[in-house]
Amino acid sequence: METKCFVCGVNDKERVYLPCIHAGEQKLVCVRCLPILIHGAH
Ligand SMILES: [Zn+2]
Repeated sequence: METKCFVCGVNDKERVYLPCIHAGEQKLVCVRCLPILIHGAH
């Protein structure tokens, strides 16, 4: 799988990513975008 945040599109290898399911697909989200998802800002 491509190591890329589906929210911000970053693929910085130094950053931490977490797996998640979005629109029925498994994707990665970086920890910087995780609070955005949790608080539902999008
Ligand atoms: Zn991100």
